[in-house]
Amino acid sequence: MSNADLRDLYQEVIMDHNKKPRNFRDMTNANHLAHGNNPLCGDTLVVFLKLNGDVIEDVSFQGSGCAISVASASLMTEALKGKTLAEAETLYELVHKQMTGEEIDSSSLGKLAVLSGVKEFPARVKCATLSWHTLHAAMDSDHDISVSTE
Ligand code: ZN
Repeated sequence: MSNADLRDLYQEVIMDHNKKPRNFRDMTNANHLAHGNNPLCGDTLVVFLKLNGDVIEDVSFQGSGCAISVASASLMTEALKGKTLAEAETLYELVHKQMTGEEIDSSSLGKLAVLSGVKEFPARVKCATLSWHTLHAAMDSDHDISVSTE
């Protein structure tokens, strides 16, 4: 895919997921959750996880922030449902690497590969990684914890 195509697809996917965020809801039976905060931009969100053994049975988020933070969280919840914790950990590492500019094999990322478009907007990388850091904190903890990109 050319850089211009990636840029167009990036804008399109971000706009779509910002307008209609997937899994944007409270989860009363979540057994893991974490709060994330990106003070640079003012993005805040909560990631809810319902784990059944080591399988992510349900994942959702709530919060407010810029289009990129919302779209990234939306794409993340879509990608994670039904995955094991080990698979989620692998995705977390790949997404983090791709958004911070490391060369990776993006074929295993599916739709999440468009998030690499954020590299064109370095000031926005923390917006895009916020939900993933928050997810990671939620996976590691069985009580409510807070993470900040600062
Ligand atoms: Zn933001």
